Amino acid sequence: MPPAARLDLFHRATRTGMQIITPSKVYPVIVIGSGASGGMAAWNLTSKGIDVLVLDAGDRFERRNFWTHVRPWEARERAARGEQPPRFFLDTKEQPYLTQDGRPFDLYRVWGHGGKTNIWGRVSLRLSDLDFKGAETDGWEIPWPIAYKDVSPYYDQVEQLIGVCGGTDDSDSLPGSKFLQPPPAPRCGERLLQKAAGTLAIPVVAGRRANMTRPTRGFPACHYCGACGSGCDTASFFNSADHLLPFALKTGHLEIRSNAVVARILVDDKGLAKGVQYFDRQTGAEQQVLGKVVVLGASTVDSTRILLNSKSARHPNGVGNGSDVIGRYLCEQIRFHARGYLPQLAGTMTRNDRGIGGEHIYMPRFNHRPGKKRDYLRGFGAQFWNTGASVTGAHEGSETIRGFGAALKQEIKRRHPAWFEIHPYGEVLPYAHNRITVDSARTDRYGVPLLKIDYHIGENERKMTEHMADTADEIVKAAGGVLVGYKRGDLDRMGSAIHEHGTCRMGADPKRSALNAFNQMHEVKNLFVVDGSAFPTATEKNPTLTILALAWRATDYLADQIKRGEV
Ligand SMILES: Cc1cc2nc3c(=O)[nH]c(=O)nc-3n(C[C@H](O)[C@H](O)[C@H](O)COP(=O)(O)OP(=O)(O)OC[C@H]3O[C@@H](n4cnc5c(N)ncnc54)[C@H](O)[C@@H]3O)c2cc1C
Ligand code: SF4
Repeated sequence: MPPAARLDLFHRATRTGMQIITPSKVYPVIVIGSGASGGMAAWNLTSKGIDVLVLDAGDRFERRNFWTHVRPWEARERAARGEQPPRFFLDTKEQPYLTQDGRPFDLYRVWGHGGKTNIWGRVSLRLSDLDFKGAETDGWEIPWPIAYKDVSPYYDQVEQLIGVCGGTDDSDSLPGSKFLQPPPAPRCGERLLQKAAGTLAIPVVAGRRANMTRPTRGFPACHYCGACGSGCDTASFFNSADHLLPFALKTGHLEIRSNAVVARILVDDKGLAKGVQYFDRQTGAEQQVLGKVVVLGASTVDSTRILLNSKSARHPNGVGNGSDVIGRYLCEQIRFHARGYLPQLAGTMTRNDRGIGGEHIYMPRFNHRPGKKRDYLRGFGAQFWNTGASVTGAHEGSETIRGFGAALKQEIKRRHPAWFEIHPYGEVLPYAHNRITVDSARTDRYGVPLLKIDYHIGENERKMTEHMADTADEIVKAAGGVLVGYKRGDLDRMGSAIHEHGTCRMGADPKRSALNAFNQMHEVKNLFVVDGSAFPTATEKNPTLTILALAWRATDYLADQIKRGEV
């Protein structure tokens, strides 16, 4: 249905008064969201024979419609004909969010089957005890209630299930794995940067990415077209919509209700979850559905909004929020782009550098090692996107080349194989004042309060930024590179790491945390929250491998609780 017709239907439904559809069935488990966390929860529970209803705010993005192999010139022609690739990112006109004046926060949401895993960057890194025990060591906020040994069997399982490629390295900041598929070879520029970092005693290892370099579970291996950012039309990288949901559907235990925008968790008079209120995204009609257990995996920000909007006599501050921690401690990573070129590669033959899209190498955290420590808490790692000849034939660095006509074209061509980028990612500490709230005075098209984000970084992050910049400078200098269009100290906009965490954190103390070590709410035992909001710290690493591992672990525990009649 075209968007205009959909909107009209919605307005007609609201004009005629909304009829609430009364539920007729009680589901054993309702899962909200079908991205990394919700998809994993549904897959694991249904594989154990438990009936699950998944409510997803969007629909399926059909792989046949992806523009993975549409070349830049063809894309222009198609666009001129009025064709479009799937619109993955949620339009803020449909679902606005609020920020504090002068403190912008870029929020990227994908509403649809698979959520953000349709287009994620696939960097898949294990957390280590440096991460799990960070707060225990430095005393900043609460520690994780779990250690590496609790999660490592799940990392093993997830890596085998989703197909992660990587090397044989193993360190205290990036634990190794026996289950990685072969990594793609580094590009020329990546080898030079790796070697340069080595001269500074900074190890740079093979990137670990959820790109399948071997055929896996019936999916073909990656064919190195490098276009992952448009979605993979052969499903050769992990996407919950292809790699989890169809397998869960095959069990016969899964029902998916699409375009179901969840607003609230409903509770009974004991304060336990009894179901979910949602709105049909196409008609605007309000619906309710009943369940014995609710598993929330709508991604950090949307899950937090749902929890805070779920106010009742038993939970006046939002469901499970007697501690007032829900919404607080929002954290992710600070990041910047150091972009330049390596003169020794300029003018060399243009190679096919497409690879697996994004970088083939990774710099794990090293700042805790002797001689590297500085006066700030936690640490940073680095990615190296867009190093080498680009997929589209253009590179953002080219815009900095001055001149015109044939000479300009020649210089662009000469530098084409020589570009590199360094992207340090640094951990932002959890601060109580960095928070998500809901604003009952401002509502969305369904009358549901909008979410508001208030987020800013502090002195620790500023000191870390200095170290990140020094490290990028040193590596570039050692590699003989030239930086272009880079201003030291400039950070990417807040939110652009797209790794939100912390707003429904797990912990041992119910006064300081909302969830226990199995993602179960301290105050509502039949409500589980399995996305990144459960992380007490952001760490410097990309989170999805850990989200998948913890969602698997939580739903193993839940299945056991169901079997024992505890929930
Ligand atoms: C461009 C990009 C690059 C990224 N790169 C990386 C990377 O390299 N490595 C990494 O680890 N992570 C990366 N990420 C982040 C990664 O995608 C997320 O960590 C991961 O998808 C989070 O899983 P999730 O289940 O919490 O949320 P999502 O995958 O976003 O899924 C959320 C689900 O909830 C549904 N939903 C939302 N609101 C509602 C509602 N009100 N009612 C019902 N359903 C709802 C959505 O439709 C969706 O199905 C990247 C993300 C993006 C966008
Ligand atoms: S590089 Fe590999 S995973 Fe990425 S879109 Fe191409 S085939 Fe798919």
